[in-house]
This record gives sequence, structure tokens and C-alpha cells, in this order.
Amino acid sequence: MYDIKSPHAEEFICHEEILETLRYADENKDNEELIDQILEKARPKKTEKGVHCEGLTHREASVLLACEIPEKVQKMYEIAEEIKLAFYGNRIVMFAPLYLSNYCVNGCLYCPYHLKNKHIARKKLTQDEVRNEVIALQDMGHKRLAIEAGEDPVKNPIEYILECIDTIYSVQHKNGAIRRVNVNIAATTVENYRKLKEAGIGTYILFQETYHKESYEKLHPTGPKHNYTYHTEAMDRAMEGGIDDVGLGVLFGLELYRYEFAGLLMHAEHLEAVHGVGPHTISVPRVKRADDIDPDVFDNGISDDMFIKIIACIRLAVPYTGMIISTRESEQVRERALRAGISQISGASRTSVGGYTEEERPHDTEQFDVSDQRTLDEVVHWLMDMGFIPSFCTACYREGRTGDRFMSLCKTGQIQNCCHPNALMTLCEFLMDYAAEDTKRIGFDLIERELEKIPTEKTREIARSNIEQIKASNRRDFRF
Ligand code: SF4
Repeated sequence: MYDIKSPHAEEFICHEEILETLRYADENKDNEELIDQILEKARPKKTEKGVHCEGLTHREASVLLACEIPEKVQKMYEIAEEIKLAFYGNRIVMFAPLYLSNYCVNGCLYCPYHLKNKHIARKKLTQDEVRNEVIALQDMGHKRLAIEAGEDPVKNPIEYILECIDTIYSVQHKNGAIRRVNVNIAATTVENYRKLKEAGIGTYILFQETYHKESYEKLHPTGPKHNYTYHTEAMDRAMEGGIDDVGLGVLFGLELYRYEFAGLLMHAEHLEAVHGVGPHTISVPRVKRADDIDPDVFDNGISDDMFIKIIACIRLAVPYTGMIISTRESEQVRERALRAGISQISGASRTSVGGYTEEERPHDTEQFDVSDQRTLDEVVHWLMDMGFIPSFCTACYREGRTGDRFMSLCKTGQIQNCCHPNALMTLCEFLMDYAAEDTKRIGFDLIERELEKIPTEKTREIARSNIEQIKASNRRDFRF
């Protein structure tokens, strides 16, 4: 029954294999010898070409997640941070969500946009409104967006999504530009994925919500999303349609976290086995309060401590996959998550349709409560205070470094030679065009220090000269 290469959801996300994994993890959670072996396997190793990480299987990672021996848990955090530094350095990629429409024909029990919610205002942006939202986002300094829309074949057909992508890429306001549009829309056909690819999207993101089929069907009682198989096989169709970079995620709190964790890793293993490349990103949202939604009715909520441990264990299992945390989480939780392996965060997000151009909060079309409500400048400042480099870089995808090309660069550590200088150059753009004086001051100091860390002299000199040009003129968008 268990076949990771099978095209069928129920086989690559095999319920019996997950139950067997959880049993195995319970039996071995105090097996120190095995745990040490797994930790050793996860640790980054120096090779001739750079640094190499083997990653972990869903069974091995599940043993770590079940283990409660304090010194071993501490080791997990240390190795997670080591991996993060080896492949992502101290860079944190910045992005913002852009809600296009909250019309939706589905019945998801955890989302206020569900069809039966009659008291939430419904809204769909016109192209002029998209333009205004993009200008507002550019004025903050954002370069990378994730567009979001409910599933409604009449109100939000693929043509509407494509038109919005076109509009977003076309807006050039002052020195602003959105250089990468990631797309988070409902599972669709190979043909539609092909159209998204042609429109120049970055990552296609689709959260599984839960890998537990029975729970999934109960949580999605009506609408096309009820079909577990169609939803779970979406990433295979996306890759068949030519999309190299896909983003997975589950909504923690809906089902038992250990079940979701094993399912998520099995999904990643499946993509790697069949398509030769695992997920580009994994997101880790938790159920939050929203209009018509009380998170307390879902009895699988997880503590902050367990949440951070999950992030660290994912980091160990899939070392080359980016990890994303949103403003659903508070500043305190985000800080801990960054150290446990997160590589991408949103900033100054609005989770409502038209939220960037509306003054008052909360907005009447909000999908969930935003815990971290700081401005982008404040988030950038905060990251730099902690020694991170906020990066607005979008170069890889624009230089064709996607899918397995990105992964092979990443696996040999070569990505450092592009990403580090690119992060510094895009941070410099942000500082010049959008930052407050104090943010500028600490930012330019940070850039000076970080330039010295670029290993090759030639790259260091080019980066330095580009940064001088960014400071001296309106020239932007240098990239390696
Ligand atoms: S989660 Fe998505 S599909 Fe479900 S109701 Fe919300 S917007 Fe619709």
C-alpha cells in the first residue's frame, strides 16, 4: 500500500504508514543511541564542494519530535541553527500577502471566507484597486508578494488571477517594483498551472490544511475543496504544468500535530522521489481567531514550545527547503522561530481585501487576526538588531535558478555566493528608498560588516561597487 512514488494521494500519504511511524516514534522516543545517530545524520558535514546535509526520513524526524529528553531537544535546536546558517546564512527573505478576493464557494470550517458566512463583507479588487494596493506595498518597500484568493470559478476564474498578476508586474512607482509574485490559490488543473507558469509566477503555494483524510473531509464539508485526492495531488499537477517551485504547509491545530508532521514530510519525500525536487518552501500557520471562527473549537492546538520544536525538526528533515512564518504569530514567537530554522517572514501584512489602502483596522474582510502589527520598517529594524539581514532579493527565480537548479546550487553551498551579496544590495535599496533614519544608520553599518564576509574578492568588490551606485543614484536591481 505504501508507495512514495505513486501518483495517488492515498498511497504517498499512506494513513497506515503514518500510524506505523507514530508507533515507531513512541517506541523509540527514549532510545538515546538511536536519537544520537539521527542527530548525527542531520548535522551538516563539510565536503570538498562546501557543506552537505543528508536530511531525515519522516520516521527519523518523527522520533526526534517525540523525544522529550532535554539535552537531546537542545541538540535539535543547535543543529537546526547550524543548518540554517550553513544554507541560508543570516538572511531572512521578506514578503507580504496581497488578498485579491474573498469570494469563496467552499465550506472550510476554520476560515471566515466560507460560503455560509453571511455577515462577512465580500470584496474582489478591480484592476485599479490592485494597482493601488501594489503602490501601497511598493511604498513600504516590498518586492515580493504572495497573492491570495478564495475559490470561486465565477468570481475568481483563472483569467482574473492572470490579469491581476499582469497588473502587479506592470506597476512601476518611483523606485518600486514587485519582482516576484507567488500564488496561493485553490488546487486547479494542469492547464491552469501552465498558464500561471507562463504568467511568470514564483512559487505556487497550497496548504494541505490537514493530511488526515477523514478529518479533511469533515473540515471541508462542501465545495470542490472537499475532494481530498484532488487537493493532495495538486502539487503533482503543478509540477506537470511546469511550475518548479511549490510551497507546502499544514494548518496546525486542526489535527494531531504528530500526524501532520509525518504527512508533511511524506509529501516532501514524494515530490523529491517523483519530480527530482522537493518543496521550495514549507509554511507553518496555526489556526487563529477570525470573524465566525473560534480557534478553541479545534482541540488540537499546540503550545508555543511545541510549535518551535516542530519548526526545528522540519529544519533537520528538509535542510534545503525554505521555511515561512507569517504575521499570524507574535513578535516573540517569530523571534524564537527565526532561530529554529525559519528563512522567510512577512511584514506589515494586511489579511483583508484592499487592506493596504484602507486606513482603519480591523478590516471587515479580514481572513485572520494579525498578531504582529508592526510596520515593515520596524520589522526590518528588529531583524537587523538581532543580527539578521532582511533580504528583498528575488534574483534566483529571475535568473532561472528554480526547481532542481536552485536545489543543486543550494546543496553545494554555492547559493551563498549569490544570495549574500544580493541580500545586501536589496537591503541597501530598501534603506535608500523607504527606511527611517535610525533604520538606515544601523542598516548601513550592517552592510559594511557583512560585505567583508563575502568569500571571493571579485564578488566582494562588485557588490561594494553596486552598493555605492545604489547609494549615489537611482540605479537599482543589480543582481548576481
Ligand atoms: S480556506 Fe480558502 S477555500 Fe476555504 S473558505 Fe477560506 S478562502 Fe475558501
